[in-house]
This record gives sequence, C-alpha cells and structure tokens, in this order.
Amino acid sequence: MLYRAWFECINIECRETYPLNKIIYNCTRCGSLLEVKHDIKALKRRNAESWKALFDKRYKSNEWPYGSGVWGKKEWVLPNIDNQNIVSMYEGGTNLFWAERLGKILGVKDLWIKLCGNSHTGSFKDLGMTVLVSQVKQMISEGVPIKAVACASTGDTSAALAAYCAAAGIQPIVLLPKGKISIAQLIQPISNGALVLSLDTDFDGCMKIVKEITKDETIYLANSMNSLRIEGQKTVGIEIVQQFDWECPDVFIIPGGNLGNVAALGKGLIMMQELGLLNKKPRIVVAQAERANPLYRAYLRGFDRLIPIKAKKTLASAIQIGNPVSYEKAVRVLKEFNGIVVDASEQELADAAALGDKTGMFTCPHTGVALAGLIKLLKEDKIDRAERIVVISTAHGLKFTDFKVKYHEGRLNFTGTFINKPIYLPPSVKAVKKALDSALKERRIYDV
Ligand SMILES: *Cc1c(COP(=O)(O)O)cnc(C)c1O
Ligand SMILES: [Zn+2]
Repeated sequence: MLYRAWFECINIECRETYPLNKIIYNCTRCGSLLEVKHDIKALKRRNAESWKALFDKRYKSNEWPYGSGVWGKKEWVLPNIDNQNIVSMYEGGTNLFWAERLGKILGVKDLWIKLCGNSHTGSFKDLGMTVLVSQVKQMISEGVPIKAVACASTGDTSAALAAYCAAAGIQPIVLLPKGKISIAQLIQPISNGALVLSLDTDFDGCMKIVKEITKDETIYLANSMNSLRIEGQKTVGIEIVQQFDWECPDVFIIPGGNLGNVAALGKGLIMMQELGLLNKKPRIVVAQAERANPLYRAYLRGFDRLIPIKAKKTLASAIQIGNPVSYEKAVRVLKEFNGIVVDASEQELADAAALGDKTGMFTCPHTGVALAGLIKLLKEDKIDRAERIVVISTAHGLKFTDFKVKYHEGRLNFTGTFINKPIYLPPSVKAVKKALDSALKERRIYDV
C-alpha cells in the first residue's frame, strides 16, 4: 500500500483516528466532526509536476474509473478502495464557462462560471456521493451488514444518493422537507427507487431524525457530516486550477448552506498547497441567502461562534439551512483563504440569476446567490476588477424551472428587474409582424 487515508477528529486537542471502514460520523471521544486525512509524506514522494502530468493524462479519458473528475485523483481521494467497488457515473470534468458578456456588464473581464450542475443528477452533490457510495460498496463487500443508506436533504443530496445507490444496487432512504424542494428534485429519488419520506418540517428537522435512525448501524448516514463526501467534493477546486493549466484563479465565490462544499473547496486547495501544486493563495467568498444566513451573521461578529437560526423560506431552497453542520470546517477554510461572507435578498438573488440567464447561462437560485454576492462585492470595491474570478455554480437551472417561471410571470413578492413575458397572439402573420415591429422598436434585444 503506497498511500493511506483514515478518519481523524478535527478537534486539535483530540485528533483521535479511525479506519475508513468503521461506521462512524463523529469522534467517539469528544463528539467533534471527523475529516479524512491522507499520508501527505507518502504523497510527497511524487513531485508536483508528476502529479499534474498524471492528472492531465487521466482527465476525461476513457480509462475507467480514472476519466471521472473525482477518480482521476484517486490517490488524493480514497487511495485504498478496490476499483471494482467504485460506483462512478463519470462525475466531474464539468465545463468552465467564460462569462464574457456578464463580465462586461459587471465591469470585470476575467469572470468564469464552473458549471457543476452539468453532471449526472444535475448538481455538484455527485462529486461527493460517488465516494461515499463506493466506500459503502467496499464495506458491504468486506461483510459489513449495511442494509440501506439514508440522508436528509434539501433536494440535491437525495437525488445524488438515490442515483448512485440505484447504480450500485443498494437501498437508498431519503428524508425530505415536505413542499420545500422542487418537483424535479422530488421525482429524481422516486424514479431511482429510493424510499422517499416526505416530512412536515424543514431540512434541520429532517437532519435531526436521520441522525436518530442511523444510530442503527445497518443504516448508513450519507449527509455531509460524513466526511467521505467532502473527499469527492474537494476535487472541484483542484479541477478548476487544472482547467486553467494549473494557474490558480484569484477569487472563488461559492453559495453555502450546510457549508460542506466550501469546506471541501478549501480542503482540496490546502492539499494542493501542501503538495506544491498551488501557485498562489486565492480568496474564498461564501454567499448565503439573507433568509438563511447564520454564517454571515457569525462573520459579522468575527466568527465568535455559530448561533443556529430558524432558516426562513427562500427561493434558494437548497441552502435553506439554519444550523450548518460544517460550520467549524468552513470557518477554518475562510480564515486560511482571506475569506469574505456576503448575503443576498430574495430579489437580489433572483435578479442576479435572471441577469446571468440573459447572458446565456441557465442558473439555479443558489448560483443566483453567488452572482448577487459578486455584484455586491464589486459595488463595495471588495473585489479587484482585474482579478480572475470563478463563481461555482452548484446545480443546473433545469432543476428549478418553477422558480424561473414564477420570476418571469411576475408571481413572486417583488417585480423582477429582468422579467421577460411571453406574448400571446392569434396564429396570424399580421399579428406576429405587428408584435415584432413594436417589440424590436422598443426593446433593444441585445442590451440587458
Ligand atoms: C447542497 C447545495 C448547496 C449548498 O452546499 P452546502 O455544502 O450545503 O453548503 C448549494 N447549492 C446547491 C444547488 C446545493 O444542492
Ligand atoms: Zn475527538
């Protein structure tokens, strides 16, 4: 075994370790979260240039499983898993979109959007779920009696869990907050054969219950407090740097709810730094919805501590979380990377999403939160306009068409700035011509 990884308690006074095939989510000694640790010394035996060459050789290749954006970096993710237990759907390798036109409108020339939603189940959650489900398959093959894998979800985690479990032939169980996820997100786990439990509560309520039911070790917990998912998600930052030919951008902007994703982004970048693959230290910005902003509030208080709040209903439903499980990990990352936290109102996030769409994107509301955060920070001169900025788009807009329909039909609590209503006409050339005449006169289509 050339490389090694294990669970380690994140509490620096404890640092207890556990093997990766142990069913454990929190440290049994002190109760803190765990993280996966790697034998960095062993990884350092290969130099930075050689790692880059290996990752480039594998990137999007057909050599299974290394063509996956996650498994192409297997040695950094789960070095000891048998390839035959890997459950992969070719996740990662998503395109990095040069938002030239949006950048021009906002006065920045080097703006990029990492489209993590262009993935199997339509969100970045695939990156983490391939790792977790693969490890479960490995444990089952070693004789561990796991009957099912369960999660609480704001919609995208459950879709990813259900798809990967279905591919592996393992039973998924999903607990969803009733009426708080999109139709697309609800039908995904139903289609994949999950046991779908719709509960009359919010995400935080579902989380409490899933923690109880997974005390029975035959039901494995798939939420991001399970640090295996972070290992897959951490490849997002590595992949972005790789896509820029190993030149790190200046700023990453990411929407945050439970804060596993920002913790993962930072973990990947730190690993690159340790292994000599990071040519500069970027800045990380987390954007939250104003109606679910416990991290933003803590940021204003100098990150004294997390004060959980009751998250209010927001259009950015996947980040409607008041008690984020990865708060501590996220704060460590923000302190390491000169972090900023911003928040966005409902209108700000919806307008930012619509503006992105007007320049050719199809953004989910969470990406709207990140774009709104970018717009705010530019206005406040907190981001240098000459810098290379990457916004992490977390899901595909097609999962959130109800949000977009309501916006453009003017059925939200505010009037969107970029509303675009269809014109209903009789099927006559005359009527269409008349509509064209007036529309093209009054509306300069190529202006936003
Ligand atoms: C899960 C999710 C987020 C939030 O990620 P966290 O790790 O919970 O901070 C953001 N956007 C989308 C679309 C998501 O599914
Ligand atoms: Zn501990």
